[in-house]
Amino acid sequence: MYLELEKMNAQEQNYWLTTAEMPKTDRSHPLPEKVDVAVIGAGFTGLSAARTLAKRGAKVAVLESETIGWGASSRNGGMVLTGLKLGVNKLVSMYGHERTQQMYAASLASIDCVEQIVREENIACDFARCGHLEVACKQRHFDDYASQAGVIARGFNHQLRVVPRHELPAEIGSSIYYGGMVDEVSAGLNPARYVAGLGCAAMRAGAAIFEHARVQGIERLSRNGTSEFRVATSRGSLWARNVFVGTSGYTGAATPALRKKIIPIGSYIITTEVLPDALARELSPRNRMIYDSKNYLYYYRLTPDRRMLFGGRAAFFPETADTIRKSAEILRRGMIDVYPQLRDAKVEYVWGGTLDFAFDIMPHAGQIDGIYFAVGYAGHGVAMATWQGQKMAEMIAGDKPENPFVGIPFPGAPLGLYNGRPWFLPFAGAWYKFLDWVS
Ligand SMILES: Cc1cc2nc3c(=O)[nH]c(=O)nc-3n(C[C@H](O)[C@H](O)[C@H](O)COP(=O)(O)OP(=O)(O)OC[C@H]3O[C@@H](n4cnc5c(N)ncnc54)[C@H](O)[C@@H]3O)c2cc1C
Repeated sequence: MYLELEKMNAQEQNYWLTTAEMPKTDRSHPLPEKVDVAVIGAGFTGLSAARTLAKRGAKVAVLESETIGWGASSRNGGMVLTGLKLGVNKLVSMYGHERTQQMYAASLASIDCVEQIVREENIACDFARCGHLEVACKQRHFDDYASQAGVIARGFNHQLRVVPRHELPAEIGSSIYYGGMVDEVSAGLNPARYVAGLGCAAMRAGAAIFEHARVQGIERLSRNGTSEFRVATSRGSLWARNVFVGTSGYTGAATPALRKKIIPIGSYIITTEVLPDALARELSPRNRMIYDSKNYLYYYRLTPDRRMLFGGRAAFFPETADTIRKSAEILRRGMIDVYPQLRDAKVEYVWGGTLDFAFDIMPHAGQIDGIYFAVGYAGHGVAMATWQGQKMAEMIAGDKPENPFVGIPFPGAPLGLYNGRPWFLPFAGAWYKFLDWVS
């Protein structure tokens, strides 16, 4: 398998990062003595929160253990998607109609939120409302689309278009699917440029970003008669009136209560060489953000410079040199199954990143031990993380924003059998493959 990767001559590198310039921070600058809010993590969640808080006059320090956008925020497919990971029928069964309606509305608002930030902050990240296409891997999956579209139209006042198999060629140059469903409201962007732009926007608003500042511990202490947080980092310590955690799949030992509720799951992407214009148009005539109906799914799209970007959960484990190398060949084979036209296309880049799944596969936000957080995007985080950052910032600033993900039950592992080390991932991967086989 490694020989295959060498034959492919693909670089183990995130393609998006070759197109973006990350903002520079002064790494010798000392941490402030005290801030209003310490934000942990410089991805979409943390930077969106920092931008909103700083615009409202709060003194904000963003503490990032690596560099701006280092986590999932620069590594993803750039699909800005409506809806949540779970389908609406499942959501209604879990939360009832009204709460599901609010959640669905939030997913639509989150795309407007990204669009507005891109416009206001002038972020050149190729944001485009090109729509998404879900494709059915089985007849049964396709049959379910009409029912889902009906529920969403009637209950949530939002239109999806079901595409029967004979009309699919107008949407995708692949003949393996049983039909599809289009949502014109979804968008695409270049995530590395977007997170770089969010970082610049947060700094322009007055937030200070500290890279290579890994948070090692957070203690709640009484100081001058009030309760404050002592945040210890690899660059020193500071006091904070509030702490907001946006560490997603990289949530670690500094926030143990949160870590126990988040399963880190690997996702991997390859991109081809730049494709001829006619071939690119044949593969995706409407330039959709595409994903299939399986649990162990593939997601793919054209990049703005016409490469095929093809991603999936080739391995369930978070990224390592080994899982990335193995994923390249698995994904290349998957891509050729979908698009035999790409048999001879050179794969130029392969990389991986870590997703954050809660045990109920839902986004969650609120407070644990007095610390604010927003996590659990389950691969649907480009828009939702941006929106949650903004909403949680408003909450920290004392507003009461509507946020249907605050206060819902946030389950941990059954029987408490999880301390943050996901020993069960091989079983989960096998279980998902089994579900895809039988469902
Ligand atoms: C391969 C891949 C493809 C994806 N594709 C899509 C897609 O197409 N559409 C979509 O909607 N979503 C997608 N996602 C999900 C999306 O990227 C994430 O949900 C989103 O980026 C989460 O943003 P975040 O800011 O919460 O976390 P992240 O961007 O992961 O940032 C968390 C940051 O916290 C930092 N950190 C962690 N611990 C500490 C600490 N102790 N101290 C200081 N800093 C710390 C990390 O270094 C990291 O930079 C994808 C994810 C991956 C990995």
